[in-house]
Amino acid sequence: MGNFAKITFFSSTSGVNLIQHKLAYDKQLTQRALFNIDLLVIHCTELPDLMMARNYGEKILYQSGTGNSGHFYIDRNGHTEQWISLDRVAHHVQGYNQNSIGIELVNQGRYPHWYHSDHQLPTESYPDPQIKALIILINHLTEQLPHLKHIVGHADLDRRSIPAENDESVSVARKIDPGPLFPWQTVMQNTRLINIGSHAKNYDKSAK
Ligand SMILES: [Zn+2]
Repeated sequence: MGNFAKITFFSSTSGVNLIQHKLAYDKQLTQRALFNIDLLVIHCTELPDLMMARNYGEKILYQSGTGNSGHFYIDRNGHTEQWISLDRVAHHVQGYNQNSIGIELVNQGRYPHWYHSDHQLPTESYPDPQIKALIILINHLTEQLPHLKHIVGHADLDRRSIPAENDESVSVARKIDPGPLFPWQTVMQNTRLINIGSHAKNYDKSAK
């Protein structure tokens, strides 16, 4: 991580370089009040590139004409796109969509053998430009959303396991993102949010 962890990005609204690239079904998602947003969920795409993530996001999966997607996507070089409006409920984490924002980081994760029992440890690290862009985005959102208070990794909110694709007697995690290579310490040192981390199970999602 080099000298990066020492850098502070607190007053960095001007540094946000956000490309608007809304999904076609953005306005079909349930609307919400911005003051209900109190949680930020960190994901990784577990896909090789942003274009493939886009293809997944565009897929219509529900009768409402919508699909699964985060609000924001950050590529390895820091390129940041917004796919879903803040005042819309995106489908990115089971049980916590209503009050949360989903940020997806492009990262291979376990791709393409997500549920193979011998392929559960991700090997791709998160480059500094991607983490710097994440910190800038988080601080921008913190300034915009007065009730945004907590941050957590997707896997902490979804601890379900499923049978491995290669051996049904072995269980593997449905979700591992953002995974053990995500630099939580750097992110927490440079943002004001509270990491509910492994305490997520006890987190009351109705609490404001
Ligand atoms: Zn996720």
